[in-house]
Amino acid sequence: ASVASLALTLTACGQDSEGGSKDDNGSTKGATIGIAMPTKSSERWIADGNNVVKDLQSKGYKTKLVYGEDDPDQQVSQIENLITQGVKALIVAAIDNKSMNNVLQQAKDADIPVISYDRLILGTPNVDYYASFDNEKVGELQASYIVDKLGLKSGKKGPFNIELFAGSNDDNNTRYFFGGAMKVLQPYIDKKQLVVRSGQTELTQVTTLRWDGGTAQKRMDDILTSAYKSERVDAVLSPYDGISIGILSALKSDDYGSKNKPLPVVTGQDAEVASVKSIIADEQSMTVYKDTRELAKVASGMVDALLNDKKPEVNDTKTYDNGSKVVPAYLLEPVAVDKGNYQKEVVDSGYIKESDLK
Ligand code: BGC
Repeated sequence: ASVASLALTLTACGQDSEGGSKDDNGSTKGATIGIAMPTKSSERWIADGNNVVKDLQSKGYKTKLVYGEDDPDQQVSQIENLITQGVKALIVAAIDNKSMNNVLQQAKDADIPVISYDRLILGTPNVDYYASFDNEKVGELQASYIVDKLGLKSGKKGPFNIELFAGSNDDNNTRYFFGGAMKVLQPYIDKKQLVVRSGQTELTQVTTLRWDGGTAQKRMDDILTSAYKSERVDAVLSPYDGISIGILSALKSDDYGSKNKPLPVVTGQDAEVASVKSIIADEQSMTVYKDTRELAKVASGMVDALLNDKKPEVNDTKTYDNGSKVVPAYLLEPVAVDKGNYQKEVVDSGYIKESDLK
């Protein structure tokens, strides 16, 4: 073989075995990073995908971004394709956190590091790092808002009626959100200052598959019909804005929000445009704002560090045990947002355009 073709062959081998084409400075400029997001049905994931792409491109990477339409099988085959296409790292926000074992073994075999994005992937050692928010704190913020608004913190005794909703049971965040909320609510439930008239207080009774607003609306309808014939609901713990909007529809069709029947306190999460508008209109009470621009930065910074043989920055090395290992994490702070501070937190920060709220 000629010297030139030998050199070419050697370079090609190097790329395959090292899992990154490093230049003289040891960087991996031009490598392609695979990003797998769960769904386009919620604004936040669209923004997450775009922001991760933007951040990685600004660091000199190419990107392949895919959305799994809330179908776990589709997401797994998308990730298989990304591996086949030769991505050098993966950023994955899982749909079903337990469906990833085989595909992440394939990633491991191809020397592809994996960042679990926002939602922790369970049951496999092949997750390198976790970028997320303090998920337990999200639930605490929602529940504290409820007990505060009902006056329980300032001496009112109740009893008040509350109903509980949780997220998808295949999303690891769900038990952290619910756990954080129940830490705050349980003492009041024990003292009967908060009453769950439906009797549905266990996580398994209150989850909402794939975070679907329609499913939540139906469950709220059923609860209002069966448990609130003469009583009124004073608060609803809702884990996510799309679910909150469904709950509010059920409430409004039962006349809540009319003159003599005020809407209950309803929480949320993600600061989605529809919910911030609902907050401005005095319907949804609050949301938990998580600046996903920051999350995208953390995740792409982790990839960049790993591909350059550096240690990604983490601030939590004990909370997130995925059943196979404790995954080192960088956790960001969530912020409670209501009518009083939405302008400062989500508009002035540039997260939502003022004109989108008109
Ligand atoms: C995310 C939340 C989001 C929910 C539904 C969770 O894993 O952490 O921000 O509201 O999924 O998409």
